[in-house]
Amino acid sequence: ETPEIKGRISFNQVSFTYPDTGIKALKEVSFEIEAGQFVAIIGRTGSGKSTLANLIMRMYDCDSGQITIDEKVLKELNLQNYRNQIGFVPQEVFLFSDSIKNNIAFGLDTVTDQEVETASRNAAVYQNIIDFEYKFETMLGERGITLSGGQKQRVSIARALIKEPKILIFDDCLSAVDTRTEEEILNNLGRVMNGKTSILIAHRISTIKNADKILVLDDGRIVEQGTHHEL
Ligand code: ATP
Repeated sequence: ETPEIKGRISFNQVSFTYPDTGIKALKEVSFEIEAGQFVAIIGRTGSGKSTLANLIMRMYDCDSGQITIDEKVLKELNLQNYRNQIGFVPQEVFLFSDSIKNNIAFGLDTVTDQEVETASRNAAVYQNIIDFEYKFETMLGERGITLSGGQKQRVSIARALIKEPKILIFDDCLSAVDTRTEEEILNNLGRVMNGKTSILIAHRISTIKNADKILVLDDGRIVEQGTHHEL
């Protein structure tokens, strides 16, 4: 049983090659994220940002180097217990043919309506949901309605937030919302991210100016790291 994590993440000379293609996606990557910090990752398409998030989620193990969470080696932690403490918003949103409520509460045993509402407010999707005739009981998918790309992303964010995770990872999940909605989400997130380690993969510089640290990736390497002010 893995005890509750604090959320410190450390990469020490981590390299990773996708086994099926042989593409070396991360090359001797080293950085430290203190528990509770907000870190942004930027870099060109294909530079390795999603791969880095995937390794933190432990979708794959690295080829060489070491990833530690708090002071423990990641691959020695109980995988399920560890993942339960991470809120991950993937680049490609996956929603089910089920109610909005069940989509937000996905994977959790006991969730109150209040918790679903709070998560959706913090993800800036509450008003959209309330505007539907059946509110949180609105069905998605084949038997229901189709959400816009930005609404899907925000439902996916609500799903991550409702877990009250120790680590939040957003993989480019604000790409389909307009700048104003993005700002609203980031303002709300500022509050919920408080005390949590947050990693935001982003494209717009405006998104990341409040980050404690920015990692710049290029061709699988970290080419710069520092604050917005320093870079
Ligand atoms: P983007 O901004 O376009 O999302 P990224 O910086 O997140 O890009 P990655 O998705 O991490 O980049 O990709 C890094 C490299 O690894 C690329 O060369 C990509 O083609 C390759 N890659 C990514 N995912 C896989 C996969 N599942 N299998 C094989 N190769 C992959």
